Amino acid sequence: MAQNSPSVFQSDVHFNFDADQGEGTFPAVLTTSHRQQRDHEHDAFHQTPTRPNGRNLPDPFLGLQVEDYVSFTQHLNASTRIAALLGAGLSAASGIPTFRGAGALWRGIPPKELSSPYAFRDNPVLVWQYHNFRRHIALHALPNTAHYALAHLGEYKDFMAITQNIDGLSQRAGHQTAHLQPIHGTLFDIKCSNPECNYLERENIVDPIIPEMADYGGVDLSDPNVSLPSVTIEQLPHCPKCNSLLRPAVVWFSEVLPGEVLNQVDDWMLSGNVDLMLVIGTHASVWPAADYVEFAREQGARIAHINTEDPSDDQKTEGRDWFFKGDAAVIVPELLKGVIGAPYCIGL
Ligand SMILES: [Zn+2]
Repeated sequence: MAQNSPSVFQSDVHFNFDADQGEGTFPAVLTTSHRQQRDHEHDAFHQTPTRPNGRNLPDPFLGLQVEDYVSFTQHLNASTRIAALLGAGLSAASGIPTFRGAGALWRGIPPKELSSPYAFRDNPVLVWQYHNFRRHIALHALPNTAHYALAHLGEYKDFMAITQNIDGLSQRAGHQTAHLQPIHGTLFDIKCSNPECNYLERENIVDPIIPEMADYGGVDLSDPNVSLPSVTIEQLPHCPKCNSLLRPAVVWFSEVLPGEVLNQVDDWMLSGNVDLMLVIGTHASVWPAADYVEFAREQGARIAHINTEDPSDDQKTEGRDWFFKGDAAVIVPELLKGVIGAPYCIGL
């Protein structure tokens, strides 16, 4: 689709207010020892001849409905074009807090008050402290097995993932850029805050973003009782072109989503029927996620929801949809193993 042509998904103004995730949590990372323990338990369990190739049936440990699993994998195998919509639940097992929903506070402050152009204008130091914290958490997290499985799927299918996550974990799992559209930006792209300036720096992984933000001791800066490093506005990163303040190139509250990325999503969605849409770790109930799901559905796609939470009241589901409840890091590799094999399955 040409840059200036109307989009089936775009209206004049779009706001990022996807607040469909639950409270921020810090679940344990899937560690090597955890996997080894599961391997051991799983090997002991699978001394039965019921799973000749390990790909036709779900791991019984996971509690998946066999009938659903079989019908899903049959459809997956037969699908040519597959889309995925990725949300915060995908990264939960990597220990990335969602900072969404009521009660998800940072230092007692709602994220909405730390992620907006108004907040940046009023207190750029605090906004950078918050984003520096999030960059640090993301950089010290590891992609989980679902990130890797999805990255692998693109090698077998015409696949595109639309991610709402800004943590960079899909990118670090090797997800090909051409198959991944980060519609909310990433924490590791930095741009100029001056709307007249086009300075953009990609994949900046400097941690901390400025030396003055080093916490010197691994303390939890999300705790309001812990003092933040003392930083002045002059010490914040400044644009090498115009000397305005630099800021994270993520989509803040009240800001429009990046048109270039949305156009690439549109181009792919309109270039052929989507056979299957995976909705992972998100309720996909707000724009543009809900529109993508419905558009794919109208094209004949079947929808598979993978989430730890039941569908929300405003999430549209149909009888032809699948719903697999559980941790994406465990469920997604298991669902995809008929296509990509089982290297990312927990316990196999
Ligand atoms: Zn600039």
